[in-house]
Amino acid sequence: MSDPSLEINRRDFMHRAAGAALGASALSAAASQAEQGKGGGEKVIWRNKQADMVYCRLGRTDYMCSRLAAGWRGNNRLKKMLLERGVNYFDTARTYTNGNNEKELGELARKYRDRMFLTSKASGLAGYPRLTFEPGQGAKAAETYTRLLEESLGALKVDYLDGYYLHGVSEPWVLETEEIYAAFEKARKAGKVKHYGFTTHSNVPKVLAKAIEVEEKGAIKYDLIMAACNPNSWPERKDLVAKLREKEIGVICMKGTGQIRQATGPRVRKMLEVADSLKLNEAERAYAYLLHIADFDVLISEMQSVAHVEGNLKLPGMKLASGDWGRLKDMVLAEQGGACHHCGRCVEACTEGIDVHDILRYHSYYHQYGHHEDACGHFRDLGYDPVAACSACGRCSAGCPAGIDLEAVMRDMAGRVL
Ligand code: SF4
Ligand code: SF4
Repeated sequence: MSDPSLEINRRDFMHRAAGAALGASALSAAASQAEQGKGGGEKVIWRNKQADMVYCRLGRTDYMCSRLAAGWRGNNRLKKMLLERGVNYFDTARTYTNGNNEKELGELARKYRDRMFLTSKASGLAGYPRLTFEPGQGAKAAETYTRLLEESLGALKVDYLDGYYLHGVSEPWVLETEEIYAAFEKARKAGKVKHYGFTTHSNVPKVLAKAIEVEEKGAIKYDLIMAACNPNSWPERKDLVAKLREKEIGVICMKGTGQIRQATGPRVRKMLEVADSLKLNEAERAYAYLLHIADFDVLISEMQSVAHVEGNLKLPGMKLASGDWGRLKDMVLAEQGGACHHCGRCVEACTEGIDVHDILRYHSYYHQYGHHEDACGHFRDLGYDPVAACSACGRCSAGCPAGIDLEAVMRDMAGRVL
């Protein structure tokens, strides 16, 4: 099983490096140019290094990862554009695009496998779209993990994955399931996967706190964590993410734009003038915040048009005067003040067992991302009518730090699938 990565001595590099500083090469030659280390020591691994991209070492994977990563949506023509511009992290999941996304990405991945850090996710196991095991059912979960990994490799038609995530963990205890980790270790030794990870987009602070505890116990090692975070939820993630990075766990930011509240008032209008002069749209402003102010290792984005790709590509290497950074920060926080924190308090508050946060997520798919079919499909898959089940007690909205009217969200979604 070949891994034609470029290896160089880590001491020769700063944590973050622009490809240009290392002598960029064209796509046709990028992956095949080996750079000699200066002997011994720890190594970092390069793939698809390009002049204008900024890279960082992704935790203890030692992989030099583009700070912009390609998420699920967007066709292979757009993904090839990203590859040509130095993006080297490509992500998918077992269930994306009705189970066809791995197959589609596989067509690109097989051609350019040696230029990619390729990850997928075990969906239908750990939380997304459903948690399918209970405490004490680790053996069953391990079997499912192994089956899903084989299915992912088969759909992608590649020999190995760089990372395979437990998809959508919201229950902290899931992270301590030793049997799944043993299944990962077995697959790793067989050369089928390199790094263990999980994603989380609900109950995120508690799940990240558990990840720190698991890491400190030492029996299970998560190398990669993909966590939902937007500028509004960053303050409550900041210390957790710092601790994870201290422990050399690669942290990837997903869902970087929240529900956008329109900026108003003279102060914000003034800031909008600054943003206009920088030529950044709302989503790009949020991403710039997460890459440069929150300083996540990597930000993952689903890029669905050439304009979207071009807009995002300029962000990792973006430079601003310090005063403009301050104005951008103020503005993003004002704009994103209504964004969900993915904290899970609404779910805890609901005595009727309604997964209020998931319903908000489907609402975002519908209104924010325009993914109408997926949003309604997920809502139907709940298998119950949350509006009928709701006692209108108001506890979910009352405890929501973002001040979201969750009953209105449920009613809106219910109205769309009738
Ligand atoms: S208002 Fe409805 S959804 Fe919200 S906590 Fe009460 S019962 Fe649950
Ligand atoms: S309580 Fe509010 S901020 Fe927290 S997950 Fe629920 S909707 Fe999001």
